[in-house]
Amino acid sequence: ALAAEGGERWVKSVCRYCGTGCGLYVGVRDGKVFAVKGDRDNHNRGLLCLKGFLLPQIMSAPDRCLHPLVRKGGKLVRASWDEAMSLVARRFREAVDAHGPGAVGFYGSGQGLTEETYAANKLFKAGLRTNHVEGNPRLCMASAVGGYLSTYGKDEPMGCYEDLDHADVMLLVGSNAAEAHPILFERMARRKQTGKDVKVVVLDPRRTPTARIADLHLSFTPGTDLAILNAMANVLVAEGLVDEAFVKAHVAFGEGKDVNRAWEDYRAFLAPYTPVRAAELSGARAGDIVTAARWFGEKGRTATSMWCMGLNQRTRGVWANNLVHNLHLLTGKIGLPGSTPLSLTGQPNACGGVRDGGALSHLLPYGRLIANEKHRAEMEKLWNVPPGTIQPENGKPTMDLFQALEQGDLKALYVMTTNPAQSLPNVDRYRKALEARKAFLVVTEAFHPTRTSELADVVLPAALWAEKEGVYGCTERRYQLLEQAVRPAGEARPDFAILCDLAARLGHGALLPWKGPAEAWDEILTLSKGTAYDFTGMTRARLAASHGLLWPLPAEGHPGTKRRFVKGEDPLVPADAPDRIRFYGRPDARAVIWLRPQQPPAEVTDAAYPLVLTTGRVIEHWHTGTMTRNCKELRHANAESVVELHPDDGKPLGIRTGDEVRVSSRRGAETFKAKLVDGARPGTVFVHMHDPQRMCNRLTIDAVDPVSKQPEFKICAVKIEPIRKA
Ligand code: SF4
Repeated sequence: ALAAEGGERWVKSVCRYCGTGCGLYVGVRDGKVFAVKGDRDNHNRGLLCLKGFLLPQIMSAPDRCLHPLVRKGGKLVRASWDEAMSLVARRFREAVDAHGPGAVGFYGSGQGLTEETYAANKLFKAGLRTNHVEGNPRLCMASAVGGYLSTYGKDEPMGCYEDLDHADVMLLVGSNAAEAHPILFERMARRKQTGKDVKVVVLDPRRTPTARIADLHLSFTPGTDLAILNAMANVLVAEGLVDEAFVKAHVAFGEGKDVNRAWEDYRAFLAPYTPVRAAELSGARAGDIVTAARWFGEKGRTATSMWCMGLNQRTRGVWANNLVHNLHLLTGKIGLPGSTPLSLTGQPNACGGVRDGGALSHLLPYGRLIANEKHRAEMEKLWNVPPGTIQPENGKPTMDLFQALEQGDLKALYVMTTNPAQSLPNVDRYRKALEARKAFLVVTEAFHPTRTSELADVVLPAALWAEKEGVYGCTERRYQLLEQAVRPAGEARPDFAILCDLAARLGHGALLPWKGPAEAWDEILTLSKGTAYDFTGMTRARLAASHGLLWPLPAEGHPGTKRRFVKGEDPLVPADAPDRIRFYGRPDARAVIWLRPQQPPAEVTDAAYPLVLTTGRVIEHWHTGTMTRNCKELRHANAESVVELHPDDGKPLGIRTGDEVRVSSRRGAETFKAKLVDGARPGTVFVHMHDPQRMCNRLTIDAVDPVSKQPEFKICAVKIEPIRKA
């Protein structure tokens, strides 16, 4: 299609931004992207939000990185591809030769195409033989993964977007979908406008734009939502809203306990979590907790829960996820149209490329684990590498990886299309290590400078989404093909081609032998065969002809699966299974209700740092702003990060809207303009994460969840001081 570059055509693709995964068409005229329009036949019904609609602007932004750059004499200067790639290959080879495979690592993102992430995962784990393969989904969705795995034995949501069209109650916990997932939010609002009795409950410390459509908004002190969720479960039990038959047939309590005995233990565990007690602890109203539970549990009505970073970016993120699942398991509101737990994903391919594709330091593709000898042997056979090639120890999760770099143990790091020197918590600590050149840093990026590329030894210009082809997998297990619309700008190359080049230079060309992403996809299909992900029937041709397909999809003729674990829908549940649902991920086919107590965050407020800082998103920007700040409308609409605080916190300090203030934590300080807003919770301040100049992560804490290893971006203690002009 690229051959006929004259004239106008529309090329099928997917939005480059959030995990909603809206389908769109890229308009191309004379070889340039001039517009996008929503795909009417996709789940987004032709709609796009502001960011998606303005995507064409980023293609020719002034910050596009058009040539390889190599650091010489302390400065990044233009180089040829051959010079840059030779240097990268040499430095990685030298690091491995001198210090072993554990001296090199890869840090990717949920924005790479599935084939790209797969190529990197294979090259590093099977070629360079290091399991230090990480990515920003560790900062984003790791606790959701931990929640699904511990509850159901399988990762990824079981429901789909269509469930929103049937939901009588929508419970949003720590999700500002109106800004972070606007088109999904539109679907929620549409459901609410049907005239049916649809209730929206929002649990969020801030009165966000999402809370504006809520029938009930529970504001609470950050970090106390475990108590609220347990109190809701308490009400369900106390008021007879439990589906006892469902619990008896499909639920276990903790690991391996007798159901009857465990049920009594669970009731005893819940007893202290009365709504009054939870209200005292959280600052929410007891009556609101009761109402939320009653609405959720009302018999004969459906309930869908959605959550995002508010639950995940926590030192008890996995536990918080477990407690949302508990509400569904107690009431049996699961695996039915309109009744499902549905975690919302931040990036367009965090699910497909990284979670499903196993591109994290403890994973192998499609549900396999590095720690499992059988899984390693299976992957070695599939990858046609000698037994024992894959190292048996897990690699380092993200924060450990950057701490290894800080300590000088990691000698070379390959960063693909992400921006850790802005997005890591306690970022100054890791920036210092990068500035000190503790490791050789390669960054592939479509834009330069970013806060990470400015610190690199080599910057490789990466093609943008419309300049390459591949598969994205979004929140609802929907895989979609992005077709190449235009040629890469300047000398940019797709990450897939860069990785294949690097593999050849490192002597591992046989591992990445493909002529293009389509051939890699054929290999990926075979890896999914026989797993719980099985999408063997999603051939390239079928993806090209579709508007997205939901796995499992084990054969060409299979329509895909809207609801997992459900008889008659999920091909992995036998047609003669005795019940409507079968949690086949667990050995006893029972999902688990976990007893998870309220726990404080890693850092609590005190006299020196009396305010809670919570970080988040705004509708105009995305991630570290690399793309959205290259769009002038978005930049003008929201020029810089401000600190939002309640008038009760600002006025005693003499702070007015527009004043410059210094926000400090135990880790660092940053200046912002203040914005006094009634929707802020007294005692809690908010800063968005998208500004490369005023970085909220100079303040955030790098404590992690012990299970998911996801950092606690959502809670740390800070103080605010006005900056008095001389
Ligand atoms: Fe893109 Fe997300 Fe907006 Fe859809 S909702 S257009 S995927 S940014």
